[in-house]
Amino acid sequence: MSQTDGQQSVSRCTNCGFEAASDGDDWENVESPSLGRMTSCPDCGSTNVTLRR
Ligand SMILES: [Zn+2]
Repeated sequence: MSQTDGQQSVSRCTNCGFEAASDGDDWENVESPSLGRMTSCPDCGSTNVTLRR
């Protein structure tokens, strides 16, 4: 499980601007019946999270 490109993807909350590593422990994971697993912001609870590379 090694990443060869050395890049770490970062996700950003579009609601409050919170940023953390996409695969880090900072994000909350929520289950949506229609959309499956989603990332939720631990600060504001928004699921408007975009992936940055
Ligand atoms: Zn947020």
